[in-house]
Amino acid sequence: MSLWEEGDTPTSGSSTSHLSATECPFHNGSVPECDEERRINEDDDRGSEQEEESEQEEEERSSDEGFMGMTPLLQAHHAMEKVEEFVHKVWEGRWRVIHHDVLPDWLKDNDFLLHGHRPPMPSFRACFRSIFRIHTETGNIWTHLLGCLFFLCLGLMYMFRPNMSFVAPVQEKVVIGMFFLGAILCLSFSWLFHTVYCHSEGVSRVFSKLDYSGIAFLIMGSFVPWLYYSFYCSPQPCFIYLIVICILGLTAIIVSQCDFFATPQYRGVRAGVFVGLGLSGVVPSLHFVISEGLIKATTMGQMGWLLLMATLYITGACLYAARIPERFFPGKCDIWFHSHQLFHVLVVAGAFVHFHGVSNLQEFRYTAGGGCTENGFL
Ligand SMILES: [Zn+2]
Repeated sequence: MSLWEEGDTPTSGSSTSHLSATECPFHNGSVPECDEERRINEDDDRGSEQEEESEQEEEERSSDEGFMGMTPLLQAHHAMEKVEEFVHKVWEGRWRVIHHDVLPDWLKDNDFLLHGHRPPMPSFRACFRSIFRIHTETGNIWTHLLGCLFFLCLGLMYMFRPNMSFVAPVQEKVVIGMFFLGAILCLSFSWLFHTVYCHSEGVSRVFSKLDYSGIAFLIMGSFVPWLYYSFYCSPQPCFIYLIVICILGLTAIIVSQCDFFATPQYRGVRAGVFVGLGLSGVVPSLHFVISEGLIKATTMGQMGWLLLMATLYITGACLYAARIPERFFPGKCDIWFHSHQLFHVLVVAGAFVHFHGVSNLQEFRYTAGGGCTENGFL
């Protein structure tokens, strides 16, 4: 299937640079043309101005006579320019979306998305320009690009809040800053991955590892302020839980560096690893509920928001693993509302709900004052 838009057949360009002999396989012509091209490059290397001038004169003369009037050497030269322009057009955005069946194996991730895929584009410039085109990754890119900008603004606003709104301004800003750092890293690695995913197999592999590591950073960063405020008056369990989540998070990052982890067959395992990492919060949550009582935990302890956050993340992970809804409507959710997009939206919503719960905890701590009594949470 042609990747080119109709009417985009390559035409002769004005570029006079040459392709190297290694690029000859792109050419439709025969091998001797490659040898001739190589000879042209060798001539250029010698840098003889006289030769270049005579070549230019000959080229001008030949273009008047048409392609058939050219010497074989110039025909090869001319054809090379066409090939160069042809390749250049892909990198400059003159591509069209393709069917799942013609994707190379490394780009085949979800076979329920039938059409609307970007072709492989080995140019970062073309990948970044594709952000403004409509294809299967457009929604994935924008959901986390806008989410990233949102948390960046929210984080900056929070960091510039007057110190008088905190009990221990520096400490609390560092602790809440860990959440913002985790969220911004996760969302920026994610939109970057979805943008350059079609560049090449190697680039896709590197950025997918960053993408998965970003999820672990978000989970680790989310635990820090929540544990800090929930165990404000019990520093020892707070410290132990922080160490445990760091070890578990780093383990998830190490596992996600394995090449097999990014393959479509491991989709369920990936969802399981990150849901498991998030669910490790069940232990400190139970600890909190048992020591403070259910009423206190749900009111002052913001457990309701924590549960809502967990529900959003787990729903997102389930949709992602099961590829719902596109599984039931193959080809109908190619561009909008496929599982990965819904998962992205739920991650942003979950992170915001968590921030809301944490800022309520912070406000409660400020209202209650910094002191601790025998009564646990207070
Ligand atoms: Zn994603």
